[in-house]
This record gives sequence, structure tokens and C-alpha cells, in this order.
Amino acid sequence: MPLPLSPAFKALNDAAASRILILDGAMGTQIQQLGLKEDDYTGHGSGHVCRHHSDHPQTGNNDLLILTQPEAVEEIHYRYAKAGADIVETNTFSATTIAQADYGMEGAVHDLNVEGARVVRRALDRATAEDGRPRFVAGAIGPTNRTASMSPDVNDPGYRAVTFEDLRRAYLQQATGLIEGGTDIILIETIFDTLNAKAAIFACIEAMEAHGQRIPVMISGTITDASGRTLSGQTPTAFWHSVRHANPWTVGLNCALGAAAMRPHLAEMSAVADTLICAYPNAGLPNAFGQYDEGPEDTARQVADFAREGLVNVVGGCCGTTPDHIRAIAEAVKGFAPRKVPAYA
Ligand SMILES: [Zn+2]
Repeated sequence: MPLPLSPAFKALNDAAASRILILDGAMGTQIQQLGLKEDDYTGHGSGHVCRHHSDHPQTGNNDLLILTQPEAVEEIHYRYAKAGADIVETNTFSATTIAQADYGMEGAVHDLNVEGARVVRRALDRATAEDGRPRFVAGAIGPTNRTASMSPDVNDPGYRAVTFEDLRRAYLQQATGLIEGGTDIILIETIFDTLNAKAAIFACIEAMEAHGQRIPVMISGTITDASGRTLSGQTPTAFWHSVRHANPWTVGLNCALGAAAMRPHLAEMSAVADTLICAYPNAGLPNAFGQYDEGPEDTARQVADFAREGLVNVVGGCCGTTPDHIRAIAEAVKGFAPRKVPAYA
């Protein structure tokens, strides 16, 4: 028996039928501006002391801020909501046992995902109380820092740093936590390895079966080479055919490239995918210092080109984007109709 659709699924379908929906922007740039020190990351200086202990330094463990600096994280989500985002992502890109192993924080993973969804919900409820607009939480699932498809060791091509089963187990824990925290959507993003993504999809389906409702899944790949392929070597068309079985609510691209460089790959995916399309590029390409200096109007103009050409149903921003970028993007695409989903060819 197919699972019944979640209430948010129906609301999202209705909203997407009438307009282009807005996703939020980058978390990293906003966190950087807070200038947090080690003591703030652990909650010992300011904030809330984390009940999970680790001997590793935590500076840079941005996901941990969900537990140690929840007010600051909520404020960032709130600013994106007020800038025009219909869908706001949880700060859980690295909230798996695999990614948290770098910080010795595997024990915090369940709490990170449950609280990660709750803190977005609180921010969105505040914004909605002010203007009446419905908004949705997207539970973010990142690719982890290991790839199941390829060996990281050129002298040992058969070696794998992680297996499908390791990934499935880690993603199941993450998806279960996000659903427990009340996420409306699951967003599998920045996919460079399709096998990692397949483990995430498998885990999400398991988590939804346990939950008893079908939750919309957004799947977003990233292009990592100049010829327009993912790291595991697929073109946008091949990538779509690898994930189509999951019936994702959206498929699309994020990160890696600025909007202009993303456009041809997005157009290719838009032509073949018989589901909604989501695109959230970086604010241009990074400069020599790894920073993004494309301004809000610049990014918005290029994202508006996607909309004008009928390529997109959901748009937002990735690395280097700010609430000002999201406000400009929301304004720039307002007058364009959402892309029509083509019949399956
Ligand atoms: Zn990015």
C-alpha cells in the first residue's frame, strides 16, 4: 500500500502549482559573521553547554550550534523567512555519525537532527505569526565527507572509505531525527556521489515507512567538473535517471557553480525530469580567498533568467548568499510563472 501524503506535501503541491517557491540561502556566511570562538561552539563561553562530550576542538562544527547557540541559529532562519523564503533548511548538513566523527560528536547526532528541525519550525512560526504566510522546514542531508563510489587512494582503486551500508545506517538515523523534529521536507543536497545519494534515498524511504506518511523529498546534485558532470561522473540527464525511482518532489542542482555556469546543466535537467526543478547556485565563483563577492542584484538577475526561460519551480541560494540575496531573488522571480512539468518521455 502506498503511504498517504503528509499534510505539508499537499500544501507544497498547491503552492508550487501557482508560483515559483523560494528556498533560503547559506548558513555558513551568516555563522561566520557571529565571530564565534571555541568556547561559544561548546557553549561554555556563551550559550548552552552541550551535554555530549568530545575531546576534539569544536570550532567549525557549525551544526553543533543548534544545541549550543540555538537563539543565534533561530535568528538566522528567521531572517531568511522574513527575506521571502517559503522553505528554510535545517543547519544539519553534517549531522550524521560519519561527518560528526571528525569532531568526536557522533553521540550528538540524534539531538542535532531533532532540535535542528525544531529550531527552524520556531523561526518560521514567528515569521508566520507576523504575516500569515505558510512556510516549510526542509531537513538538510549533506553528502558526508566520504564517497562510496570511488577510492580516495590512487594506489588502491578497490578501497572504499565508506560502504553503502554505513551510509544507509547513518542517513536513517538522520532522517528519523529530522522527522521526529517535525521536518516538512527532506532535502538531500550537494550530491557529488550518486551512490551516497542512493543510500540517503533508501534511508529516507525506510524512515517514512516507519513514520507512516510520505514526506516530499528534494534531491540536489552538484556539478564538479568543467564538462558538466558530478564527481561520480554523471551528466545531469544520467543523474536524473539514477534517482527518478525515488519520485522526488524536486530534483535539481546547487553549489559548485555560480548561476550563469549552472544554467546549461539546469536546462538539460529541466528538459528530462518529469518532476519539479529546484536550483540554488552559489553567489558566483569564489575569489582567491575562497569568499563570494557577487552581490544580491547580480545573483538575482541570473536566477531570474532561469525563471524567464521556464526552467525552475523552486529557487534559492547556496554558498555566499545572504538574506539580501534571497530578498532580491524573491523579488526578481515574482513575475514569472513556475516551470511546467513535462510528460515523461
Ligand atoms: Zn554551496
